[in-house]
Amino acid sequence: MSHVFPPAPVIDVPVVGRSETFPVRRIYCVGRNYVEHAKEMGFTGREAPFFFLKPADTLVVVGDGQTGHMPYPSLTKDLHHEIEWVAAIGKGGSNIAASDAMSHVFGFAVGLDMTRRDLQGEMKKQGRPWEIGKAFDHSAPIGPITPMDQAGDLTHVRIELSVNGQVRQTSSLDKLIWSLPEIIEHLSAAWTLMPGDLIYTGTPEGVAAVVAGDELVGSVAGLKTLRVKVTG
Ligand code: MN
Repeated sequence: MSHVFPPAPVIDVPVVGRSETFPVRRIYCVGRNYVEHAKEMGFTGREAPFFFLKPADTLVVVGDGQTGHMPYPSLTKDLHHEIEWVAAIGKGGSNIAASDAMSHVFGFAVGLDMTRRDLQGEMKKQGRPWEIGKAFDHSAPIGPITPMDQAGDLTHVRIELSVNGQVRQTSSLDKLIWSLPEIIEHLSAAWTLMPGDLIYTGTPEGVAAVVAGDELVGSVAGLKTLRVKVTG
């Protein structure tokens, strides 16, 4: 079989301790999954989890010890950081029970759900889709994936983001409104999960703007640190 032009390349994320990479299929993101972040966005109370997607080729893949580059995107004057704990799916399935969900997880990474907040806000106001605010090129920086058996117990660990050395977001994974098993249960009821899917599990409070030249350092204790520089 030949193509009318070369097919787009597979997007690979490095795996800690392995020469094989993790080939990405889809990126699912969870909205408003920490109480204090929901409040800062103007919402209160526990609502059912909701999801949006980013194309796989929005990833900015950053290797261990490296600094990734994210060009400041077009159309916005309010580019926000959202530090997130990312789960990488290794075994697919639909209607996965929360009690069985972790057997579908390959590993974990640190990710940034970069957001054109002004455009997202405008779309919210108009009841329109969020893609222009969320699913733009280079909107999903990610660090290496640590296999689950090497990551240790992450239930209560710290998640943090600094910009130019100053802490902007800090919380703990036990503050997630919907836990990872619950997220997988809900997600897999709506879509068939497949190996290669990534799940960005939501961001804690403290989201704010960055500008060209800023250096972002994101961490989840036990995983590889993610370093990204916003370029002009
Ligand atoms: Mn997010």
